[in-house]
Amino acid sequence: MSAPKTVSAPAPIAFMDLATQQRRIKAAVDANLARVLAHGQYILGPEVGELEKQLAAFAGVKHAIGCASGTDALVLPLLARGIGAGDAVFSPSFTFIATAEAAVIVGATPVFVDVDPETFLLDPQSLTAAIAQARAQGLRPAAVIPVDLFGQPADYAAIDTIARGEGLFVIADAAQSFGGARGGKRVGAMAPVTSTSFFPSKPLGCYGDGGAILTDDDEIAKTIRSLRVHGQGAHKYDNIRIGVNSRLDSMQAAVLLAKLTVFEDELVARDRVAKRYDAALANVVRTPRIEPGVRSAWALYTIAASNRNRLAERLKARGVPTAIYYPIPLHRQQAYRSYPIAPGGLAVSERLADEVISLPMHPYLEPAAQDAVVAALRESL
Ligand SMILES: *Cc1c(COP(=O)(O)O)cnc(C)c1O
Repeated sequence: MSAPKTVSAPAPIAFMDLATQQRRIKAAVDANLARVLAHGQYILGPEVGELEKQLAAFAGVKHAIGCASGTDALVLPLLARGIGAGDAVFSPSFTFIATAEAAVIVGATPVFVDVDPETFLLDPQSLTAAIAQARAQGLRPAAVIPVDLFGQPADYAAIDTIARGEGLFVIADAAQSFGGARGGKRVGAMAPVTSTSFFPSKPLGCYGDGGAILTDDDEIAKTIRSLRVHGQGAHKYDNIRIGVNSRLDSMQAAVLLAKLTVFEDELVARDRVAKRYDAALANVVRTPRIEPGVRSAWALYTIAASNRNRLAERLKARGVPTAIYYPIPLHRQQAYRSYPIAPGGLAVSERLADEVISLPMHPYLEPAAQDAVVAALRESL
């Protein structure tokens, strides 16, 4: 038998901590899931309607429409607008693949645009140049999908000015930013249509795949509600358009309803964690720049360092988990190399892919664990 331990080893530091959250909400999750099992309406049951109501109220918009994933939440509005062959859909290159994938799925051409080196958000100048070039190449500029990368809402006012002039439809990719705000508006209310994801690791995540579309536009909401059930018309076997099968299931909605009860509190906690990192690291590494008047949902806390790979190894050796979002810009992905890019190239996206590294970030990161991350980072530089 080993000697009794007098001091317990510190718990390993989690990059994300869904287990602590689950302990906190377990009673509500269990009760909500039991209710679904009892009524048996697994597809578009009452939990989905209730969740949609609560999401819309949270964001301050008229409609929230659940769907099967964040990717589908981007595809459905493109379908609703009839965007397809010959249309250019502008996407930042420094994002998750789904942003551009949605354009390809509907038959449109993604056109890659660069991002700002400090906020990592879509660069309006690069967008303007890309629009002119796409038109010159015979594409019809149809939509832009700004991404609220790492939780910070993009500058939709600036993008809207460009979009209006060019007749572009704006779809906000808010997969990482639900709960964020800018200039007094919540994510969901800043663009004509906003798409979000409930993938488990997103700020508001379920226990599987899920997504939602938020909008104030009655017409597009109605079309998307039809599209998600095979283009349904007046009844189940009346099909008035080509649709898809993309629903959020009742089980996932039940989980999300439980998570929403602690969501605002978690957003506050994430912001507290981010501010502690800012204070400790501002003079040490390039910390994320959040623009004035913006509330980030802090899906990730991402710094930039020229020796990123070595830093990741050293942190790992010190027990600090990190992750790289994203190591390859989209225009360099094998399947996407043939699509157009903004004139002048995408130097910022390329550089960020080599320099970014995300630190542990979740609402339950205790100060002691966070201090250990900071100390390990200082030692590793
Ligand atoms: C996660 C994510 C998506 C896709 O969401 P899924 O629910 O995984 O389909 C789209 N865009 C961005 C920026 C994301 O981070």
